[in-house]
Amino acid sequence: MKFGTKAIHAGVEPDPTTGAIMTPIYQTSTYVQESPGKHKGYAYARGANPTRNALQKSIAALEDGKFGLCFSSGMGATDAVIKLLSPGDEVITSNDLYGGSYRMFKRVFEKFGIKFHFIDLTDSKNIHQYLNANTKLMWLETPSNPLMRIIDIAACCEVAKKHNIMVAVDNTFASPYLQNPLALGADIVMHSVTKYLGGHSDVIMGALIVNDEKLYSDLAFIANSCGAVPGPQDSFLVLRGIKTLHLRMERHCFNGTKVAEFLKNHAKVGKVYWPGFSDHPNHDIAKRQMRDFGGMISFTLKNDTVENAIKLMESVELFSLAESLGGVESLINHPASMTHASIPKEERIKNGLSDSLIRLSVGVEDIEDLLADLDNALAKV
Ligand SMILES: *Cc1c(COP(=O)(O)O)cnc(C)c1O
Repeated sequence: MKFGTKAIHAGVEPDPTTGAIMTPIYQTSTYVQESPGKHKGYAYARGANPTRNALQKSIAALEDGKFGLCFSSGMGATDAVIKLLSPGDEVITSNDLYGGSYRMFKRVFEKFGIKFHFIDLTDSKNIHQYLNANTKLMWLETPSNPLMRIIDIAACCEVAKKHNIMVAVDNTFASPYLQNPLALGADIVMHSVTKYLGGHSDVIMGALIVNDEKLYSDLAFIANSCGAVPGPQDSFLVLRGIKTLHLRMERHCFNGTKVAEFLKNHAKVGKVYWPGFSDHPNHDIAKRQMRDFGGMISFTLKNDTVENAIKLMESVELFSLAESLGGVESLINHPASMTHASIPKEERIKNGLSDSLIRLSVGVEDIEDLLADLDNALAKV
């Protein structure tokens, strides 16, 4: 099955009792058993729920994976992966990471004795000096947030395989429509389902997709033991959102390309960060491992001050000033004070994230309206 057909059909069967074409919302916490332990695979809804199961199958199919597991948030999914580790274990990850992942690694898990190395992974050769017998996991995020750097997933997986290290990829920015890390050698794909998969800015959810059965059962054990599972109503909303994922992504990519080119040619704009430009430092890898370049763009102004950047963010009308991304509506964001405020300033600046950087999540509105809105706002700065 091809992607669009899977988005509509994978994991979804007509309801066995009524024939309902849409998966019912099984709003129940528990299930009646025939005799103790004898049931239809459902005992208590922390462990399993039919609406959630349909969604897990759908998301697994989109990543060409065998097993999917959904969590109550993207951070809940990441938390489950780190809980596979033990005190003394070490993780190699990138220095240009979602702020919440950085915060969880540094402030929650370091105190349990897990060590994180935040390094430049755009060159896989950098990995070697941080490898040792305790290295257990590589955590990649590509395209990175918010600087749109691209990490070569296959090259990192090759190094990891040689040293028996597990690789997890946060695939939130690309969505399964643009990139499938399992096919490039990764062991775990993580999604903030909140973003492109849900697609309508109305649900918080996370997911993990794996091929290995033992890894799946270890993660399912953690999900059930620690309990960060999503409810049936949210599972239903995401099942509905996924049915248009391919259509939305096509438009996100089209609009993203137009907006990136518009900004690049605008006299008031400084640097534009978008992997689709042929002069982007990692453009070749992006072209190889992604099907298109997406609708996430960051940029600075030529008059590069924080005040000016804030003025622009206050001047746009169609682009809403908000955290998050991947919804049908266009958003504008100030990473330094919003999505990445949890990363210490000196750490941020060192990694190239300036206080004046502006990030866009380009939605699926009509492109003429989006460009007019940006043009009007740029005239005021
Ligand atoms: C939003 C986001 C997360 C966290 O997901 P939540 O659903 O907000 O918990 C992780 N990684 C990336 C890249 C994100 O954009």
